[in-house]
Amino acid sequence: MRLIIAANWKMHKNSAETAEFCLSMRHSEAMFTGVDVLICPPHTALAAAAVVMRESSIQLGAQNMHYELNGAYTGEIGAPMLIDHGVKYVIIGHSERRHLMGEDDALINRKITAALKSGLKPILCVGETETEREQGITESVLAKQLGGALKDINPEKTAELVVAYEPVWAIGTGKAASTDDAEGAALLIKEFIRKNWGDIAASNLRIQYGGSVKADNIASYVALPSVHGALVGGASLEADAFSALIQEARKVDKN
Ligand code: PEP
Repeated sequence: MRLIIAANWKMHKNSAETAEFCLSMRHSEAMFTGVDVLICPPHTALAAAAVVMRESSIQLGAQNMHYELNGAYTGEIGAPMLIDHGVKYVIIGHSERRHLMGEDDALINRKITAALKSGLKPILCVGETETEREQGITESVLAKQLGGALKDINPEKTAELVVAYEPVWAIGTGKAASTDDAEGAALLIKEFIRKNWGDIAASNLRIQYGGSVKADNIASYVALPSVHGALVGGASLEADAFSALIQEARKVDKN
């Protein structure tokens, strides 16, 4: 299974900064063979990224979308608008959207359903807060998030789905999860998918780890048997650093 490493820029970079980053990545792109590399800029910079990334193996993702294709939803963006910019993936249910924007599992389920119907590949983010971890309820939190987000999704779609395990306490804090915690959570996710959707669905699913991933720790995560990539925030904002992180991941032999 191919590694997938995605850059989540959050609310950073204008069009010029995006074009500059993408040009730099294109110069390194020959060194990314075998890894699905994904850049998720803000919506306003997608057009600039699409121009530079035309015919590149580096793919574009969006950070969010609405569950309707179009309509009276002021300020929102529908899947066809993202596809129009060459977007292939969309991050759904990031903890910042769950906790700062109040997104719940039912809304996330509508977005996942709409993304898959439209031909976008969702990256579903799940993860427990620090309090939930301290209470020892990580497993039930993950099960609730997965069950809610994936309700009524066709099991055959797991090949198009990526799940990012992102413990909230590790995002942007410099406190990355231990490899035992990351593998443990990835196994819980796989087991949930296996129980609900069967063996094939579970073996097709790619799971990323996200939370303070950097060039100097990425290898330890992608070396884990159940982890096939990373969702990267802070360390994806500088092209050289992000490129170095991808090189480190490529050194790991997953077979
Ligand atoms: C994220 O935003 O999904 C993330 C994991 O951020 P960081 O890498 O900065 O922790």
